Amino acid sequence: MDDLVVVAGAGGFIGGHLVADLVRDGKRVRAMDCKPLEDWYQVDRDADNVVLDLRLRDACFRAVAGAADVYNLAADMGGMGFIESNKGLCMVSVLINTHMLLASQQLDVQRFFYASSACVYAADKQTDPDNPGLRESDAYPAMPEDGYGWEKLFSERMCRHFSEDFGLHTRVARYHNVYGPHGTWSGGREKAPAAICRKVAEAKLTGSSQIEIWGDGEQTRSFMYIDDCIYGTKTILGSQLTEPINLGSSEMVTINQLVDIVEDIAGVRLERQYLLAAPKGVRGRNSDNTMIATMLGWEPSISLRTGLEKTYAWIFDQVAALTAIG
Ligand code: NAD
Repeated sequence: MDDLVVVAGAGGFIGGHLVADLVRDGKRVRAMDCKPLEDWYQVDRDADNVVLDLRLRDACFRAVAGAADVYNLAADMGGMGFIESNKGLCMVSVLINTHMLLASQQLDVQRFFYASSACVYAADKQTDPDNPGLRESDAYPAMPEDGYGWEKLFSERMCRHFSEDFGLHTRVARYHNVYGPHGTWSGGREKAPAAICRKVAEAKLTGSSQIEIWGDGEQTRSFMYIDDCIYGTKTILGSQLTEPINLGSSEMVTINQLVDIVEDIAGVRLERQYLLAAPKGVRGRNSDNTMIATMLGWEPSISLRTGLEKTYAWIFDQVAALTAIG
């Protein structure tokens, strides 16, 4: 029998894809999330699917018992609209990583992966839309996203010290904006690519000619397609890397360019209404992939256009199904 792999946050976007991928690899997987099973984005019947609140210490000991590898993707999170107005909730996720680390150390887990974020990077390195790319060292001196980013930076640090003090093999990836099918696309926690795909699909289905954009649309980001994220996550866990590493695309675009691509895919042109007071996050963010390319000989390479074609098609179907019901 293969070693047991545990995925925390398996009912969410990245966790759901990771479980499916590990099962395809022939792994024995225990998948966990606090949401009721019917709310999981994907449920793989070949995994052992367990509903547990991983903020609780005992739940984490149950979760990792017998595991060789642990992927901790569980967090209370969302896009800018969510994290800017739920800082306290985002910080409570520190309980999840704390208890998952303690349980993993005490129950002799071999390898532990933590999903960190580009939100750990210092705000003063992200004021220019022509961001040259954030290097791993740009997280310090610390000035991360308030709330969510501080929790991620603290939890990263805790992984480091569990490795140094207890010899637990911890690996940390700083994800830069991940998107794809089976992600959050409505409800207030969605991120820019899903929100733009949904708005364009709604316009197409209702015949509306307008689209609302948060900010002036000139803020920049890079977006990583889910398949690159899953490959990178598994590769980082299996690597000898001991420092946090960027896992993101370096194809930087403005939000206006993101909208251009989705409109092009949908075959529409919409009149843009800019909501200047809406949450918009930092002005410019991109991933510097020097470290990952050097250390792993690989970096995310699926083009934004290719990833958005698949994502838009999936979100269009979700919006169309809802419209049909409504
Ligand atoms: P997601 O919200 O879709 O998935 C997270 C899952 O964690 C959810 O299903 C949620 O129910 C679960 N969860 C929350 N609290 C829990 C608890 N107490 N016990 C058990 N499960 C709990 O998010 P995602 O996009 O799949 O992100 C996965 C991880 O990657 C998160 O840690 C997130 O912070 C990180 N990350 C994601 C992105 C991105 O662009 N998606 C970027 C940077 C970092």
